[in-house]
Amino acid sequence: MPLSKWSVDNNNKYFGVQIMATVAFIGLGNMGAPMAANLVRRGHDVNVFDLVPEAVRSLAAQGAKAAASAEQACSGAEFVISMLPAGEHVESLYLEQGLLNLVPASAILVDTSTIDADTARKLSVAASGRGKSMVDAPVSGGVAGAVEGTLSFMCGVADPEVFEKVKPLLLDMGKNVFLAGGPGAGQVAKACNNMLLSILMIGTSEALNLGAENGLDPAVLSDIMLASSGKNWVLEGYNPCPGLMANAPASKGYEPGFMSELMLKDLRLAMAAAGDSKVVTPLGDLACALYNRHVSQGMGKKDFSSIFQAIQNLQPES
Ligand code: NAD
Repeated sequence: MPLSKWSVDNNNKYFGVQIMATVAFIGLGNMGAPMAANLVRRGHDVNVFDLVPEAVRSLAAQGAKAAASAEQACSGAEFVISMLPAGEHVESLYLEQGLLNLVPASAILVDTSTIDADTARKLSVAASGRGKSMVDAPVSGGVAGAVEGTLSFMCGVADPEVFEKVKPLLLDMGKNVFLAGGPGAGQVAKACNNMLLSILMIGTSEALNLGAENGLDPAVLSDIMLASSGKNWVLEGYNPCPGLMANAPASKGYEPGFMSELMLKDLRLAMAAAGDSKVVTPLGDLACALYNRHVSQGMGKKDFSSIFQAIQNLQPES
């Protein structure tokens, strides 16, 4: 495999003579398009396909090779990367449309979509039954991370050697690449992370609202909590109260960022994983219910930090 000529330094960063790969990239939406563009910029041969022809044309204008189908994109590919909306799309591509049978025998398949762990495991079993390796590698970092090439990848794969082959390629689109465990483990890690993030966002919103309703300046309260034990990622860079952080979605009319409907999708995946494994997640359940109501009230396209407004509008039960 060409990428094996990379070396690793003490900080787990790859260096040395960069060997290029032929990559098929399928799914060129908000995330996939900038990820594929970064691979092109790094000098890889990238064959791209999306159901939306304009998305393919846009990548071709940036140096990728346009393919007329997923199968054509995979011709000669050493790696196949998919970045699709949900589990049904990924299953449809690889199983119903039969892409698993059509990719070259030596190709490694990497699904970076956020999907349920069960489907990821099912695809891994189906791939290995055909003598192929499949990695679930969902990402954290959002569209900004995809554009800047700073995504975090959480990988699940049976064979750690396959992970080592994929890692340099993922580092061309991100800055952190983790081996979470076996098949489906990447998806479980992603679900756990986003469940925690939703709880941090709701908790921070509640604290800021409680303080403001009791006469505190939210800016002062934020500073106090940032220097105290309530410090967290939301307070550090994503304050949900408008006007406190110029670059946060809250100060830009809650334009995403990370849409509430995507947070709800991820929470449902976390709840499914909890249900399947009979694990109780009381705060995850509550977070899922709150985002469900928020989205059903028309806030799905707004950034997930807009849950602050929902918290502000809650009325005491009489
Ligand atoms: P998107 O809807 O913008 O893009 C998905 C693309 O897949 C679309 O262009 C669509 O045409 C294409 N597609 C669907 N089925 C296809 C098929 N069979 N063949 C080829 N192309 C197909 O979605 P997105 O925002 O890019 O998100 C993709 C995945 O990344 C989702 O699973 C999402 O949960 C996850 N994710 C998104 C973000 C974010 O901030 N947007 C952050 C982290 C993870």
